[in-house]
Amino acid sequence: AGQLPRPPHTRVMTVANQKGGVGKTTTAVNLASGLALHGLRVLVVDLDPQGNASTALGIDHRAPDIASVYELLLGEVTLKEAVKQSPSHENLYCVPATLDLAGAEIELVSLVARENRLRNALNDPSVAEFGFDYIFIDCPPSLGLLTVNAMVAAREVLIPIQCEYYALEGVGQLLRNIELVQAHLNPNLHVSTILLTMYDGRTKLADQVADEVRRHFSDKVLGTVIPRSVKVSEAPGYGMTIIEYDPGSRGAMSYLDAAREIAMRAKDEFPSTTDLSRGQ
Ligand code: ADP
Ligand code: MG
Repeated sequence: AGQLPRPPHTRVMTVANQKGGVGKTTTAVNLASGLALHGLRVLVVDLDPQGNASTALGIDHRAPDIASVYELLLGEVTLKEAVKQSPSHENLYCVPATLDLAGAEIELVSLVARENRLRNALNDPSVAEFGFDYIFIDCPPSLGLLTVNAMVAAREVLIPIQCEYYALEGVGQLLRNIELVQAHLNPNLHVSTILLTMYDGRTKLADQVADEVRRHFSDKVLGTVIPRSVKVSEAPGYGMTIIEYDPGSRGAMSYLDAAREIAMRAKDEFPSTTDLSRGQ
């Protein structure tokens, strides 16, 4: 795999959509894997108590006493202590989620700076040593405090939209939540990327949904569309991303294309190539 340009600053992207099953986790781990394969250093923060992103990246998140994103949010460990290297790739890292995280949504409510816990953890000086180019935050299927933490910690939101009935249902509410976070907590937050997932070219519906999404979001929508494919759904069962499980498959190729598109867009978004934040 050829190299992709390193962004001038770490790009933090929150993968959000409060609908479950639209491809958030699949997108987060496969974009991360695709970018890592192209020589970039990538972290996935698993913010879903189900821990599916951790599983797909080959991290045993059921191991006892594992330092996870839960302890990180509570301030019991630093990011450096919670980060695990994925066996998939030397450039790929994960902060895993454990089932404890299910309680965090409520436990966080009474903590100081409850919306800023993840941002503060990512800003820890020890994180700079890793030199991450990309950080993907995989959100749970809700708009609660965990997702708010993800939106406060990121600059960019990536919304996966499934090419199915009711695809846009809930997206309006998601956009209103993003605006609220923008207005009150994180003025830099913006929707940078929309990715169409689970596209089935045999159905007219898939094209109708894709057209409608492109009308709404125009150039935010990646040209690459992720096809529906059984292989994509099989990969996590082997603790792998599709890019590892079957690199030649259409699913893997499309996630590699999407990763490339995202990396090339960064060049336009940040025209300066001097890197002050991470050294080289
Ligand atoms: P979310 O994180 O939004 O809940 P997931 O990424 O977990 O969504 O995807 C939901 C289910 O659909 C999972 O079982 C996943 O393996 C499967 N899936 C995701 N993308 C595809 C695809 N392109 N083709 C087929 N199955 C997919
Ligand atoms: Mg998920």
